[in-house]
Amino acid sequence: IRVQVNPILEEKDRSQGAVIVCYDITELRRLEQLRTEFVGNVSHELRTPLTSIKGFVETLLDGAAEVPDLRERFLNIIHKETLRLQRLVDELLTLSRIENQRPDVCNGRSRIQEAYEKIKPVIGPYAEAKSIELEVVIPNTLPEVAMGIDLLSQVLLNLMENAVKYTAKGRVWLHASYVNQSIRLEFGDTGCGIPQEDLPRVFERFYRVDKARSREQGGTGLGLSIVKHIVEGAGGKIWVTSKLGSGSLFICELPTRNGGITNEEEPKDTN
Ligand code: ADP
Repeated sequence: IRVQVNPILEEKDRSQGAVIVCYDITELRRLEQLRTEFVGNVSHELRTPLTSIKGFVETLLDGAAEVPDLRERFLNIIHKETLRLQRLVDELLTLSRIENQRPDVCNGRSRIQEAYEKIKPVIGPYAEAKSIELEVVIPNTLPEVAMGIDLLSQVLLNLMENAVKYTAKGRVWLHASYVNQSIRLEFGDTGCGIPQEDLPRVFERFYRVDKARSREQGGTGLGLSIVKHIVEGAGGKIWVTSKLGSGSLFICELPTRNGGITNEEEPKDTN
């Protein structure tokens, strides 16, 4: 608790009493701690590829550049690490953009379809390259979802990209429906699944079940934390069920424009 004391002064600076204000700063402290942890995590994640790039560049400058084999190998590593840094910075920027953005509310019935059309050029070829069957079912009759198209596309992209990424063969699907007065999105896959003990942690920033595999696949461990952030910021919910070796199901419930889960951030109707 933070205490602030303001004396009430009479004429000639004689004190008549005081107003004491007590602030509960528990939440503030918690946020400060989260921020410190986050900065620590980010620094670590940025430092790893940077150290590697620095080391290989120095080795090249020291003479390895003269040996064609080494030059090629080292440049490839530098290239890979640079791409990794770029992805990381891109995702961090997305995260900070979301943190500073209130969920907007737009019109249009088929926002989910629209969002899917936006990410289809990325997801379609990715699934095809892995011979994964893609199934998308979005009824036309869904009520309006209370989320802007950009954020919605980001949710679809991160979840569907993961589904394809962590599936070696089989199917990936997105089913949209109207349940519990909310828009329900189910992102399923027949992939590697997630061990039960990791399930509660997958939405944490930088959490990766298999660090090596995720890194190899270009993962940064930020994708799901971004999704959770967007969904909860809009007043929705997200959870996951999974069976190791058979697949995962991410379920997302989003508020609708009129009814369903109430969203405090949503501008009130003026009529
Ligand atoms: P990443 O960039 O590593 O994919 P995410 O935050 O998107 O980071 O996901 C966190 C971790 O959750 C991943 O590293 C992966 O281990 C696990 N994961 C996410 N989606 C799936 C999925 N569909 N199937 C299996 N594992 C998944």
